[in-house]
Amino acid sequence: MFNKRTRIKELLGSEPKGQEVTVMGWVRTFRNNQFIALNDGSTNNNLQVVVALGKFDDDQLKRITTSSSLKITGNLVASLGKGQKMDLNATSIEILGDCDAEKYPLQPKKHSLEFLREIAHLRFRTNTFGSVFRIRHALAFAVHKFYNDKGFIYMHTPIVTGSDAEGAGEMFRVTTLPFDEGKNKTPRNEDGSINFKEDFFGRATNLTVSGQLEGELAATAFGEIYTFGPTFRAENSNTPRHLAEFWMIEPEMAFYDLEDNMNLAEEFIKYIIKHVIENNKEDLEFLAQRLAEEEKQLPQDKRSEMGLIEKLEFILNNNFERITYTEAIDILRESSYNKKKKFQFPITGWGMDLQSEHERYLVEKHFKKPVILSNYPKEIKAFYMRQNDDGKTVAAMDILAPGIGEIVGGSQREERQDKLEQRMKEMHIPIEEMWWYLDTRRYGTVPHAGFGLGFERMVQFVTGMSNIRDVIAFPRTPGNAEF
Ligand code: ATP
Ligand code: MN
Repeated sequence: MFNKRTRIKELLGSEPKGQEVTVMGWVRTFRNNQFIALNDGSTNNNLQVVVALGKFDDDQLKRITTSSSLKITGNLVASLGKGQKMDLNATSIEILGDCDAEKYPLQPKKHSLEFLREIAHLRFRTNTFGSVFRIRHALAFAVHKFYNDKGFIYMHTPIVTGSDAEGAGEMFRVTTLPFDEGKNKTPRNEDGSINFKEDFFGRATNLTVSGQLEGELAATAFGEIYTFGPTFRAENSNTPRHLAEFWMIEPEMAFYDLEDNMNLAEEFIKYIIKHVIENNKEDLEFLAQRLAEEEKQLPQDKRSEMGLIEKLEFILNNNFERITYTEAIDILRESSYNKKKKFQFPITGWGMDLQSEHERYLVEKHFKKPVILSNYPKEIKAFYMRQNDDGKTVAAMDILAPGIGEIVGGSQREERQDKLEQRMKEMHIPIEEMWWYLDTRRYGTVPHAGFGLGFERMVQFVTGMSNIRDVIAFPRTPGNAEF
């Protein structure tokens, strides 16, 4: 058996009593031909390995370079040095993989996040990305724990979908049709349009933008379900908050109204944040420090009022502000920002779609806490949202978070078949193609609701990373699908 190792995180939490242990990992630094800082990804803290003078061949010592990989056996003893509690006195060192220090792109010094994106295949080996991805994992685990403990069923909704009725964003086509004009021509109908009957699935298909519609089918049998999977949007928005491929958590619940939906979303967000505060203290502290240093570069008025951990604790200890779209428009219209024409998009009045600058004003300047906005004008929302009695608004809710903007989008769904079909007609949604969706309204329809939480935006919020490209392993954005 090869892998009989102890993780460094575990060792650093134990008492050094001379016990023999084996560790494996990558060299961060090798000082004075004597001190190896070894990292194995379990924590940002390195284990100091002491190489006694004269004990090992010079030829072997030369091969211990930054990021070479080692298997080391030794005895764990209390450290005589200052920086660390314990040392591993090496008795055997096996070099598993050499690393040419001249060529290795990740030199042991500070690199910009932009540069690290170009070497995303190696950036996990930095402290920042170590912390971000351990926290990402912890959040994902907490998502499943939260819903599992509440009795929700985890549904795997399809990634390839034939329905393009969602209207949530631009879609990526999935096809095996040839697209050259030579011998192997794209099959076309008489009118020149592409003949998708010849395509792999016998119809046009796309990558899913949301698992919601399928989620509703499951919720109307299991009661409460959630999805957690990748979603795809070919929107050409090069922002620090949009990816072309991102992960979304979409709970869908029968017998829930809009208020139940808001309560669940708020409880859920607080739960997963609490999980990270309780389980990832070290990584959070590292990222809090990183953020504080990054913010020192900013002008005073652009800095956050709270540190990262303080901000997360504030979220746990305070209720989200709940206001209607109509109230939000009033606040925005009367704001000094609007009067001084500081918005790029001025507040034109009721009915307008809110831009992210407006959302950020509400959370960051006005309320200074997360805000749940509800009851939007039906014209700016999707066809499946439940129509309110006023004839103007729908039972939608978005949750806006400081520094991020929209983190959750959800609604109570329209369960009344006649109202749903009427709205689909108005919005030119193909009713016949959606026969399976409408069947839930035909056969035992129930009030139900759900929402989508963008997982990467949540990871951004918890880690304080300002660019969404730095919280997903290999970001897909317009013009970029490297790795
Ligand atoms: P936005 O206005 O920010 O583009 P949206 O209204 O398109 O968001 P929804 O369709 O409601 O978003 O999707 C639900 C959630 O998924 C959003 O609240 C957000 O957290 C996340 N999300 C949406 N689009 C993206 C994207 N391109 N990249 C990452 N996360 C996204
Ligand atoms: Mn969008």
